[in-house]
Amino acid sequence: MKPVSAKQVQNKTVLVRVDYNVPLHQINKKIEVVDDSRIKASLATIELLLKARAKIILISHLGRPGGQVKPELSLKPVAEHLARLIGQPVEFAADCVGDAANKAAQDLQPGQILLLENLRFHQQEKKNDLKFSKQLARLAEVYVNEAFSTCHRSHASIVGVAEWLPSYPGLALVKEVEALTSLMNNPERPFVMVVGGAKISDKIDAVTNLSKIANAVLVGGGVANNFLKADGYEIANSYLQDVPADLKKNKISYVEVAREIIDQNKTQRVLKDGYIPLPKIIYPIDVIAAKSLDSKKTSVVNLFNGEACQVKKDQMFLDIGPKTVRLFQEVILHAKTVFWNGPMGVFEQDQFAQGTREVARTIAKAGAMTILGGGDTISAINQFGLADRYDYVSAAGGASLEFLSGKELPGIKSLKS
Ligand code: AMP
Repeated sequence: MKPVSAKQVQNKTVLVRVDYNVPLHQINKKIEVVDDSRIKASLATIELLLKARAKIILISHLGRPGGQVKPELSLKPVAEHLARLIGQPVEFAADCVGDAANKAAQDLQPGQILLLENLRFHQQEKKNDLKFSKQLARLAEVYVNEAFSTCHRSHASIVGVAEWLPSYPGLALVKEVEALTSLMNNPERPFVMVVGGAKISDKIDAVTNLSKIANAVLVGGGVANNFLKADGYEIANSYLQDVPADLKKNKISYVEVAREIIDQNKTQRVLKDGYIPLPKIIYPIDVIAAKSLDSKKTSVVNLFNGEACQVKKDQMFLDIGPKTVRLFQEVILHAKTVFWNGPMGVFEQDQFAQGTREVARTIAKAGAMTILGGGDTISAINQFGLADRYDYVSAAGGASLEFLSGKELPGIKSLKS
């Protein structure tokens, strides 16, 4: 994939799909952007367009307004923030289609920037509505997609528009695709995947696919509960997402999918000196348990040698335990490539943050090529002051997991056709 070049946009009106779905907060009666990393990720492409004297029209979604105008989800504060970052005014239109958008687009001069109001104020955006796509496309001569994080969605601003305009990927989008492709095609080995968080639903396909590619998959967080249960452990009152993974496939549950992954990756090998190598899928051998998320009274529960029977019915597993931390550290420190998505425990509470903190620190010093993804993983590394210690940090959790599951993302496909 080649990113957009100056030649393709020289003196043209360019519609750029960005991801400005950023957290906002009211500070002193003013709405401010709390974390601008997604805005910063688009700056290289904007600067390229400015140098090419393009007229730049930015489009984005923000939050989940459900197809209705919600003033608290307006992109206006984002336009003001972008103006400060880029050091020039950013025009704002109160709608992304119709008279307001058309007039603002017509008034735009070369080297000027316009941000249109939240795409998702129109329900047609999510429906990839033909008329809506055409309305957006008519605003410009060229389309650039700089929103990798939304490329797994067949929305009008991602897929529909690309049918009507010459379409190119933005610089950050290409970087992201390259980083993820290198993981799947030629990762430097050993390649270790670390996965955690609560929901297994959005990670299971990536785990299934990467378990065929990676040398080891370390599983923590609530996701590990599916694997522990699949292996016959009592997980008591712990979080478990166990709805059917695929209704078409005879209602196979996530625990059963976990069991299949464990079985497919079992090793019968015994090394020359008698050692049995670690299995490829490694889940906790001990956990930090408590009665509730805010309980300060915690205990370590061992999950081997039959000690798991000691689990009390009212306990929840809320972090990986100290032996698991050491085991994970050992594996990570041998890695040459690490991909990490999802915290190892409920890191938002100090008493359950240790596993995530240690794993984050170990990945940071592993001397490996490190790729991180997902909103909560990013919150965790920010919380630990480690944000700048990794090679590639992606805010596109869902899209990158779908990409790593081997599926072609609709937004990428539409750029190629
Ligand atoms: P996800 O969006 O699926 O990546 O989940 C992120 C959330 O998982 C974070 O808010 C964590 O607090 C939560 N989490 C991590 N480990 C556990 C666990 N063992 N039990 C319940 N929640 C967890």
